[in-house]
Amino acid sequence: MRRTRVRFAPSPTGPLHMGGVRTALYNYLYAKQKGGDFILRIEDTDSHRFVPGAEEYIMESLKWCGIIPDEGVGVGGPHAPYRQSERRDIYRAYAEQLVKDGFAYYAFDTPEELENARKAEESEGRTFIYNAGTRAAMRNSLTLPAEECEKLLAGTTGWTVRFKMPEDTVVQMEDLIRGKVEVNTSTLDDKVLWKRADELPTYHLANIVDDHLMEITEVIRGEEWLPSLPLHYLLYKAFGWEDSMPRFAHLPLLLKPVGNGKLSKRDGDKMGFPVFPLKWVSPEGEVSRGYREDGYFPDAFVNMLALLGWNPGTEQEIFSMDQLVSEFSLEKVGKSGAKFNPEKAKWFNREYLRMRSDKQLAEAFVPILAKHGIGVSGPEGEQHLLKVVALIKERATFVADFWDIAWYLFVAPTDYDEKDAAKFWKEENIGPALQAAEFVRNFEGPLEKDSIGPALEEYIRENGWPMGKVMNCLRLALTGCGSGLGIADIVCLIGKDEFTRRIDAICSKLGK
Ligand code: GLU
Repeated sequence: MRRTRVRFAPSPTGPLHMGGVRTALYNYLYAKQKGGDFILRIEDTDSHRFVPGAEEYIMESLKWCGIIPDEGVGVGGPHAPYRQSERRDIYRAYAEQLVKDGFAYYAFDTPEELENARKAEESEGRTFIYNAGTRAAMRNSLTLPAEECEKLLAGTTGWTVRFKMPEDTVVQMEDLIRGKVEVNTSTLDDKVLWKRADELPTYHLANIVDDHLMEITEVIRGEEWLPSLPLHYLLYKAFGWEDSMPRFAHLPLLLKPVGNGKLSKRDGDKMGFPVFPLKWVSPEGEVSRGYREDGYFPDAFVNMLALLGWNPGTEQEIFSMDQLVSEFSLEKVGKSGAKFNPEKAKWFNREYLRMRSDKQLAEAFVPILAKHGIGVSGPEGEQHLLKVVALIKERATFVADFWDIAWYLFVAPTDYDEKDAAKFWKEENIGPALQAAEFVRNFEGPLEKDSIGPALEEYIRENGWPMGKVMNCLRLALTGCGSGLGIADIVCLIGKDEFTRRIDAICSKLGK
């Protein structure tokens, strides 16, 4: 048995879409489960599509998600270099071998000649395909005399090596997710494999050569590469590498939340969710939001992604990375697209937030408090923070929500919501509310929710006052509006002195 070796092979053409992260994740899970290797290879042979910063972005995204390569760019390994632009010297010989063996040929057509051929076909209502039907009419090493070819090859004009797609042949393929796939070559073209102009291979040649040299056993990639599979099969055959050819698995698309089609950045912008793991600023300055910056936990994001296309076959939804490694299987990856649900992404984050310890959450809250000018110092401050976090974590989706939920546990309100004030701060409620406040102030039992809470309610009830109205009056004083945490909770956290200050403050501002 060969050692399992899989690779994630992104092209640095922009930020990594969450679908790309899912591809990396499935490769990683597959490798780890089989005790094999997960390789990161950067496919940057298309210099026109290269975007500065994209490679760093890919690496940082994988790191944030905990998808750590065993080999590859940034790590090294026995097959280094793993960046295809640094492997350029390797590919030419392979392209030439294919020509020598009759599986490929040199093509000398200029861009204008190709354009003319295209136009000529279009004027007849057909689309131009460079293949068995047309190559005889083009300028290539199959049609030109050998001498002329030699001259053209030695010259500086931009010739290419094209694959000689066999005519009317059925290619039978096997996909680990889709089963048997058959394609007739008559719909396929003679793809360019290598370009003299930049002395670089195209994706197809570099991808096959590298997968072979890097001893890849399974290729797990997005569905958009399925149309390339016949060519890839034929290339393995042409090189005589059929016996060690990897097995292929094409993952279903991630679909937009509503309607049909691929999940795009535009959907995210429209509906207010990120489609990228991290924030990205394009070289032109366009900003795309990221899960990390939006406050998602990486393990929540990874868990959510794992279930977009893979079905564990049980009701279980929460999986740690270790559990994913042991449970994941390609057999349980669906054939049809997986609809992304932004609400479900939030649900995952809420679940993970609840699973975090109060200490972890308190630590994550400290920088947010600092932004609001609030420092946490000493064991007392830390204790207070832990209590706050324990109280509010059930109400939050993100750590950033903590401030909105509980800011008044750190600073006193300076004004009062007009509508709520008009509703609650009324003569008939003010008297009872102030007496209730007096009760709180004089309460002699322990300042704990379960002690002061029931006692206060009992006091209000005994006096026959409307519970809701009195409580809302007090809440207005403590939070500045009619909603928020329970009065007993707030009193216990801010203390009696601060409670008294806030009661006095509302009286002097709104009157008694
Ligand atoms: N470079 C290709 C991409 O950007 C890789 C496709 C493959 O995995 O074969 O997705």
